[in-house]
Amino acid sequence: MRAEIVAVGTELLLGQNLDTNTAFIAERLAAAGIDCTLQVSVGDNVKRIADALRLALARADAVVCTGGLGPTQDDVTREAIALVAGVALRRDAAVLALVEEIFRRRGRTMSPSNARQGDVPQGATVIPPRLGTAPGLICPVGPRVVYALPGVPEEMREMVERAVVPDLVARAGERAVIASRVLRTWGLGESAVAERLAPRVDALEAAGPDAATIAFLASGMEGIKVRVTVKAADAATAAAALDEEERALRALLGDLVFGVDEETMEHAVASELLAAGWTLGVAESYTGGLVGARLVGEPGASRWFAGGVVTYGAGTKQHVLGLDPGPVVSASAAAAMAAAVREVIGADVGLATTGVAGPDPDEGLAPGTCFAGIALPGRAAEGLALSLAGTRERIREIGTISTLDRLRRALVGARTAGGGAQDPAGAASSSR
Ligand code: AMP
Ligand code: MG
Repeated sequence: MRAEIVAVGTELLLGQNLDTNTAFIAERLAAAGIDCTLQVSVGDNVKRIADALRLALARADAVVCTGGLGPTQDDVTREAIALVAGVALRRDAAVLALVEEIFRRRGRTMSPSNARQGDVPQGATVIPPRLGTAPGLICPVGPRVVYALPGVPEEMREMVERAVVPDLVARAGERAVIASRVLRTWGLGESAVAERLAPRVDALEAAGPDAATIAFLASGMEGIKVRVTVKAADAATAAAALDEEERALRALLGDLVFGVDEETMEHAVASELLAAGWTLGVAESYTGGLVGARLVGEPGASRWFAGGVVTYGAGTKQHVLGLDPGPVVSASAAAAMAAAVREVIGADVGLATTGVAGPDPDEGLAPGTCFAGIALPGRAAEGLALSLAGTRERIREIGTISTLDRLRRALVGARTAGGGAQDPAGAASSSR
């Protein structure tokens, strides 16, 4: 069973309203195991809506349409469906009475234009409205079907749950679940991540159309996401298939993976610190508190985040952290800051940021020349170079998550045998 979604409304094309209805419908279709193969938006125009419906019906078994069922002249979805189905649009007395009754119960008088909401393409089944006044429609077109739903999100949602999904599932004749899981990675670009996963992607493609599918999503400042999607008879089978696929992907990605689904980088850091029983102190220069802010955003941060200082000026790095006078943008300065902030804050682990955010060079260094300092218990503090690019804002944002990632890797390394090993199995358990 293949479905497409047609969202109707000129406001969507003008960018005035975000099309959240399509996202909701797509999510409900996936949960019901219905493949959604195309989604489009179209303006409030009979001919263009009819064209969109015809195209959709040429490809898919079912079309879910939202918007254009209101009482005003620009609400023309009913007319377009009748046109495409080649049937008359009839004012249905029973439906009209239903709409009138809704107005009466609300103590409002029905305006004549609302009578259009009683118009029904011949052969269609009406979905009685519960939250608004617009009836939904289930319109057969030959062996296929068009569902028409109101544009108002809560009215649409209620009808999708009550009428559309049950009807689609009955038509599909088989029950299935489509489920996804996202592995979040940091450290490589989209194509490099794809290259790492190529063996698995090739194996799945060779396995046929029912195998899991893998997609890559570049999510700007939050790394590359790898989404795996499976279709199965029920939720438990789908979850087991996702588990198996996650294991296969992690074996290829190793410690690039820092989280699953909504898990953040700071969550991964928190998990490692909690596992080690260590507290963290932070000294920030060019990130100006962004690292601390992200860490404090993690619920329960007081269990492991001891505190931080923003030592922006070179003099402040000397007064507060005891750094020697001299250059402060270097690997050794970052290491010295991390070692010092451990002592100043009284934490087990020290983390530091120093660098040139730009737009102008500093200490003769180009913008984006940045360093992360990490001081773990029982080890010499180290300074790691980060080579960043972009605007001042971007350098500070990317520098923040990169610094947290370096700390995460160092903590994983300290936990796994001997330390420093990039053990995929260890990385896997660290992020969950
Ligand atoms: P309509 O049923 O076309 O009269 O739509 C009524 C209202 O619902 C619009 O004015 C929008 O505010 C909202 N709406 C319509 N379509 C969508 C959509 N695809 N996503 C989110 N909101 C929508
Ligand atoms: Mg509209």
